[in-house]
Amino acid sequence: MNILVTGGAGFIGSHTLIELYKAGHTALVVDNLCNSNPEALRRVAELIGIDAIPFIKADIRDSKALDSIFSANHFDAVIHFAGLKAVGESVEKPLEYYDNNVNGTLVLLDAMRRHGCKNIIFSSSATVYGDPAEIPITESCPKGQCTNPYGQTKSIIEQILTDLQVADPQWNIVLLRYFNPIGAHPSGRIGENPNGIPNNLMPYITQVAVGKREYLGIFGNDYPTPDGTGIRDYIHVCDLASAHIAALKPIEQKTGLNIYNIGTGHGYSVLDVVKAFIRVNGVDIPYRIMPRRAGDIATCYCNPAKANREIGWKAQFTLDDMCRDAWHWQHANPNGY
Ligand code: NAD
Ligand code: UDP
Repeated sequence: MNILVTGGAGFIGSHTLIELYKAGHTALVVDNLCNSNPEALRRVAELIGIDAIPFIKADIRDSKALDSIFSANHFDAVIHFAGLKAVGESVEKPLEYYDNNVNGTLVLLDAMRRHGCKNIIFSSSATVYGDPAEIPITESCPKGQCTNPYGQTKSIIEQILTDLQVADPQWNIVLLRYFNPIGAHPSGRIGENPNGIPNNLMPYITQVAVGKREYLGIFGNDYPTPDGTGIRDYIHVCDLASAHIAALKPIEQKTGLNIYNIGTGHGYSVLDVVKAFIRVNGVDIPYRIMPRRAGDIATCYCNPAKANREIGWKAQFTLDDMCRDAWHWQHANPNGY
């Protein structure tokens, strides 16, 4: 299939490109590079063994740019990663987040409709479950109250896509609810490249390991979990990437709207991750217990059985692999790209 990949220069998009080409697909990336570096695409091409990944620098809110892209190319489907994702920033800049994520998706969907491409895989998030009603979380678990505008944009876009598919059953839509993607390509050539102080656990740990930060702050050790720290379902970014290739199956089979949890089904605490990182990589990670972070929940992990049953996808990498590959990337690229 020929796939339009929005946000393909980013963390998850760049890893997904490798899996797409490995599976025999081709892609064109549209990205405005607001949170990424074109060097990622150069390295992806190098890893795949092609000259270059077709790339157009454009904003998905630019309807004219999308028109010319769709006019010049045939796409079998769109994988839609483009979006802003910093939870804290979304609280400070709600209008920017709703505009970029929700309006950006509306402009993209309108262009897709006008050009007759009605197949899309959307990057959703476990955040749509809010404080989940059941653990492990299945797809039938009701959506919950999101505590920040970023999460709201994911929930709203899911609703828009659901309504669209009801109105026009020609649309084939897959909502992938990602749990906590971490790690990097085992080559160490591509990985997560956050701007400024990392918000997420693993990039913070790797920056402590490489000496850029003095210590890790652990946000609370009084949660109702075995060691008191928050539990999440960490998933290797290469496993997450391969879920997108599996998700092309219901698109090809034209089965309407499908929703899948994309996680390992295992919950690890913050201290589990820190200890695994230290053990696997032989690097010390000094940490201090800090107050809880606003909006955090105690425990979040999924039951990924539906994705396994219906699209034949299952995570392969372990937490040790995630720690090893995250460190390999950071160590080889202390300042990112
Ligand atoms: P990322 O920031 O690395 O990648 C997103 C890419 O989209 C970037 O390259 C950015 O430049 C581009 N982009 C943003 N707005 C754009 C616009 N208006 N037009 C064109 N390009 C634009 O983030 P990521 O971690 O790779 O996440 C990809 C998607 O997955 C996002 O939608 C994110 O919300 C979602 N997601 C991420 C996580 C996570 O923990 N990383 C978890 C759940 C869901
Ligand atoms: N966390 C932490 N210190 C950090 C970043 C995160 O203790 O510097 C904790 C956070 O409280 C949560 C877990 O690590 O329990 C995962 O947080 P992250 O921001 O990576 O993902 P989230 O699940 O919040 O999307």
